[in-house]
Amino acid sequence: MTQLKKFDLVVIGAGIHGAGVAQAAAAKGLSVLVLERREAAGMETSRASSKLIHGGLRYLETGQFRLVYECLREQRYLLRNAPHLVRRSDFYIPVYRQSSRSPWWVHLGLCCYHMLAGWAKEHAIERLSLEQRASLDIRQQDLLAVFRYTDAQTDDQALTRAVLESARSLGAEVRFNTWCDQMEYAGEFRLRLNDGSEVTSRALVNAAGPWANEVAKIGGFQQQDVDWVQGVHIVLKQPSGAGCFYVEAADGRAVFVLPWRGMTMVGTTELIVDSPKAQATQAEIDYLLNVYNHYFPQSKQTAADVTEVFAGVRVLPKDNRIANKRSRETLFVSDAGGAYVAIYGGKLTSYRATAEKVMEQLSPVLRDAVSDKTAFARSTINLPLR
Ligand SMILES: Cc1cc2nc3c(=O)[nH]c(=O)nc-3n(C[C@H](O)[C@H](O)[C@H](O)COP(=O)(O)OP(=O)(O)OC[C@H]3O[C@@H](n4cnc5c(N)ncnc54)[C@H](O)[C@@H]3O)c2cc1C
Repeated sequence: MTQLKKFDLVVIGAGIHGAGVAQAAAAKGLSVLVLERREAAGMETSRASSKLIHGGLRYLETGQFRLVYECLREQRYLLRNAPHLVRRSDFYIPVYRQSSRSPWWVHLGLCCYHMLAGWAKEHAIERLSLEQRASLDIRQQDLLAVFRYTDAQTDDQALTRAVLESARSLGAEVRFNTWCDQMEYAGEFRLRLNDGSEVTSRALVNAAGPWANEVAKIGGFQQQDVDWVQGVHIVLKQPSGAGCFYVEAADGRAVFVLPWRGMTMVGTTELIVDSPKAQATQAEIDYLLNVYNHYFPQSKQTAADVTEVFAGVRVLPKDNRIANKRSRETLFVSDAGGAYVAIYGGKLTSYRATAEKVMEQLSPVLRDAVSDKTAFARSTINLPLR
């Protein structure tokens, strides 16, 4: 008969949030088990993002200043702790006669972004001269202005795996191809896993991304009313150009054209779907191709030039606004007397801050599990990623 293993914390899901929580908990001296049903970490949303470590310039238009401030702060930590995974890139915003945002509006937004970044000189904004503008490959007709600023890019899956590896090196146990069939809470959690074994834990974090409600249902925990919003990216054969471009689609949405592994990545779309499993549609691929061809007419791309398509599903709180006007703040749902926390939505960029907030919520349940009380205060702010 197999022995019942006891943990302080079980984390369900090894996307960026599960990896981040495991790292934060292990750094505080807790015994942690991560359950991931796929064969490796970062196989779902955390490999299908726009791969930006950014404050989210467009969130300023919906007044999400706190989120932008937090993400810009996290960007600084990540640039320092993982310079091999997160690098600064130049971003260009072209403004045309037909654009819905005027040059002064874009400039104002960038000034605000610069301010939220603490006026850091790396975030300085530049309005390009006529000569500089002409040297860019973009459509020149009706071009009123081009602004340059900097943000950061990463490899989302590699970042997720590095964070999980850090958790492992701090003592966390990770089990792939593993999920929980039954879950009960009676002062502690008792989980029955798909291999027939059982584990117990004092606390449980549901970091199953778009499947968070599915996991909550197994244990009978509170669920959150959410929409699944799919986002698609295409990768084009076209070698990447000068930097990252932030352009406006015909429907006013912001779309990125980014260098990715020597090629060009274009994204993203926002389509409300009825399942957490992402599946790109032809209409989304055509939409992104049209955006690219409109702004880069000299290097027109066809369907045959699309080398890769990837899709991910965002979790957004249900409300009646269109997807790109809704809050991107991370939602936390607590149950089982505070011993259960589920993470809904969130950003790749702010995973560390999210993990620390989860630990803060669980501290009444877990603080006693650590004999060295100073260890519980240990933060991941300065923890380098290998
Ligand atoms: C199109 C798109 C673009 C984005 N771009 C950016 C960006 O540029 N910058 C940024 O900061 N953020 C971005 N985001 C947001 C960011 O990607 C997500 O917030 C983040 O990746 C979510 O991570 P997660 O760990 O919550 O979910 P996931 O990465 O989906 O991880 C959940 C994990 O749980 C596992 N799982 C599910 N059910 C079970 C179960 N029953 N048992 C065990 N394991 C289970 C899954 O297999 C998966 O590995 C973007 C999101 C989307 C959709």
